This record gives sequence, structure tokens and C-alpha cells, in this order.
Amino acid sequence: MAYPSSYYAATANDASPILPLKGEVSADVCVIGAGYTGLSAALHLAERGYKVTVLEAERIGWGASGRNGGQLGVGQRKDQRELEKRLGREWAHRLWDLGVESN
Ligand SMILES: Cc1cc2nc3c(=O)[nH]c(=O)nc-3n(C[C@H](O)[C@H](O)[C@H](O)COP(=O)(O)OP(=O)(O)OC[C@H]3O[C@@H](n4cnc5c(N)ncnc54)[C@H](O)[C@@H]3O)c2cc1C
Repeated sequence: MAYPSSYYAATANDASPILPLKGEVSADVCVIGAGYTGLSAALHLAERGYKVTVLEAERIGWGASGRNGGQLGVGQRKDQRELEKRLGREWAHRLWDLGVESN
């Protein structure tokens, strides 16, 4: 199936289609979905020695990961002052640090 029209699809290298899984496969962990979340989880698990299988219904990067704007931000979609009011200073700061660490 072709990717939906996007910058990523227009500039991607040609990749041969990955054939559907047939028969039985055994793994320590089965990850459903090959977007950023699933691929990152699979990579980190594999690096720790787990045998991982990733199942994707469409194609790698088919979902939001293959259509986003590519902007990096450290915030949590809520103003830091609002987070402090709702969660307290310590947890608001932890959320900020989490965002910084993930970039
Ligand atoms: C238009 C748009 C713009 C965005 N812009 C930005 C931005 O600028 N900066 C930013 O940081 N974030 C942005 N985002 C958000 C970001 O793209 C997403 O948070 C991120 O890609 C989510 O990744 P994901 O792996 O969790 O989900 P997805 O990338 O959606 O991956 C989920 C995958 O699971 C597969 N799947 C679903 N159900 C099944 C099933 N039952 N079996 C097998 N496979 C299945 C789907 O086909 C898909 O490939 C944007 C999102 C959109 C839609």
C-alpha cells in the first residue's frame, strides 16, 4: 500500500515492501505498531537482548510518525505555571526535565 502524500513519502528512499507475517513466530515481546513509540520500544528491548517482533497493520511509519510537522519541543502542551499550580513545583519540574531529556 502506498504511503499517504507527505514530505516524508516524497523524499524517502525506495524500500521494498515487507511481506506479511505467515506461520508462527515466537518472541519475548511483540510490539504492535511501527511508529516512533513501537520502533523505539522494540529497539531498546532488542538492545537489551530481548527477541522482539514488531507487527504493523499498514507500513512502517504509516501513522502520525510519517505525517507530522517534525517540530521539537520540550513542553507538555500546558504552560509551566499552570502545571505548577496543578501538580506542585516538584512534579512540574520533573515533567519539564522529562521533556528536555527526550529531545
Ligand atoms: C499532522 C500531525 C502533525 C504533528 N506534528 C508534530 C510535531 O511537529 N512534533 C511532534 O513532536 N509531534 C507531532 N505530532 C505528533 C507525533 O507525530 C505523534 O505523537 C507520534 O508520531 C506518535 O507516534 P506513535 O508511534 O505513538 O503512533 P503512530 O506513528 O500513529 O504509530 C502507530 C502505528 O500503529 C499501527 N497500528 C495501529 N493499530 C494497529 C493494529 N491493531 N495492528 C498493527 N498495527 C497497528 C498504525 O498503522 C501506525 O503505523 C504530529 C501528529 C500529526 C498527526
